[in-house]
Amino acid sequence: MNDRAIERIRLVSGHVASRGASASEDDGCGPLAAAPASSLMASALGASNFPQCSTAAAFPEAKHDTLFFDDFLQPEEKAVRHRVRAVMEREVAPVIAGYWERAEFPFQLVPKLREMNVGGLFFKDHCSTGVSLMSGFMAVVEMARVDTSISTFLMVHGMLAGITIALFGSEEQKRELVPKMSNLDLIGCWALTEPDQGSDASALTTMATRVPGGWQLNGRKRWIGNATFADVAVIWARNAESGQVNAFLVRKGTPGYHTKKIENKIALRCVQNADIHLDNVFVPDSARLPGVHSFRETGKILAISRIAVGWQPVGIAAGVYDMCLRYLKQRRQFGTQLASFQLAQEKLSRMLGNIQAMWLMSWRLTKLQEEGRMTHGTASMVKAWNTLRCRETVALGRELLGGNGIVTDFHVAKAFCDLEAIYTYEGTYDINALVAAREATGISAVKAAAR
Ligand SMILES: Cc1cc2nc3c(=O)[nH]c(=O)nc-3n(C[C@H](O)[C@H](O)[C@H](O)COP(=O)(O)OP(=O)(O)OC[C@H]3O[C@@H](n4cnc5c(N)ncnc54)[C@H](O)[C@@H]3O)c2cc1C
Repeated sequence: MNDRAIERIRLVSGHVASRGASASEDDGCGPLAAAPASSLMASALGASNFPQCSTAAAFPEAKHDTLFFDDFLQPEEKAVRHRVRAVMEREVAPVIAGYWERAEFPFQLVPKLREMNVGGLFFKDHCSTGVSLMSGFMAVVEMARVDTSISTFLMVHGMLAGITIALFGSEEQKRELVPKMSNLDLIGCWALTEPDQGSDASALTTMATRVPGGWQLNGRKRWIGNATFADVAVIWARNAESGQVNAFLVRKGTPGYHTKKIENKIALRCVQNADIHLDNVFVPDSARLPGVHSFRETGKILAISRIAVGWQPVGIAAGVYDMCLRYLKQRRQFGTQLASFQLAQEKLSRMLGNIQAMWLMSWRLTKLQEEGRMTHGTASMVKAWNTLRCRETVALGRELLGGNGIVTDFHVAKAFCDLEAIYTYEGTYDINALVAAREATGISAVKAAAR
């Protein structure tokens, strides 16, 4: 970097710091001054050159935990939270908006993600790095706070593919795959959804037919995260003999196994979702997960991962709030900070209340899961409710930033779009609401009369 560029950075950061002396001392405007040179460079010289406010390249300080929920966490859980937050803010925030714009997966960041040591967070009891569920969810929150694509990538890899193998795989499958997946040396994906079976996933039609020495798989999958580059796919398919749902491991490069990236998404643009075609794919007997006998096992995985997906909106809303708080203190209109206007304050207050309530719901659900008292209905209720409240929160955030609320450099626009995927995957808002109400009433409204 030449001297002029460095001087330009100094000018911009000095300008921000001096914009309202009140802004710099007590308010989370500090991170720009404290940010690493790479962040400053991205902030000052990146796509958006907006003088009053810092971009998300230097991610704002965390200010959202106003009810001190951190006090509820065990030391190990706090340590995970701080470790993940540090890597996400330092390594991911400065560069991720560019990857998102280009709809690229940030392969270059994988060594940095390894430093977070979260690859194995969900493999408790199955590998040495396994820690408590709550630690894993704290990692989810901290990842989603800075970038939801990264959290989704690791959740699909660890919590869907990884946990399925850890819970239902053979000893040989676990011995081979779990250590490598924990260290992100080998990436997984998890293929349940099909073009014709989305919400009605248990009606899947991908077929597994017995052949000498193994199984032949035929069918289509849709929306499968990480699938374009995953080394191993967990494929859910119907056993042609028993009619029950089974699961199989298909390796990258297996003849007849094809993936095609789904283009033009407006959410989670770094996540490589794909259509999968399985045309007479042969897998040996050793590729079948012996612990899966029916869709009941699929449901067990979904129940756990639904808790994590319910935590994602907590992280998304927290990141948006932190960004808005800093922005409103930096940005001046009508001779003063936006933060001093009552309308802005009411929105901030509503966002903050939503975050506290969402955090508490997810925390309680996790505790119930640890005690073996969580039900499908309660998991669905929390996932549905959190995404609904988060939708309100990100919309308020997007509004608070004015024009910059639709520019990805300022984070909120990206989070606003990403939340739309969370609202839909792992069961849509509607389906989860219906599952929660089915448990409450004893009456299912999921299936309408066929027409
Ligand atoms: C970004 C992204 C990533 C994903 N990643 C994966 C993955 O890695 N692996 C995987 O297997 N799947 C994945 N999915 C699939 C996801 O789980 C499905 O998209 C989701 O279950 C909804 O299915 P659908 O999109 O086909 O919607 P549909 O089922 O077609 O639903 C469309 C609309 O109809 C409503 N609806 C449907 N049935 C009912 C009903 N009975 N009553 C009332 N309303 C109803 C829904 O709520 C929704 O509003 C992903 C999806 C997205 C968008």
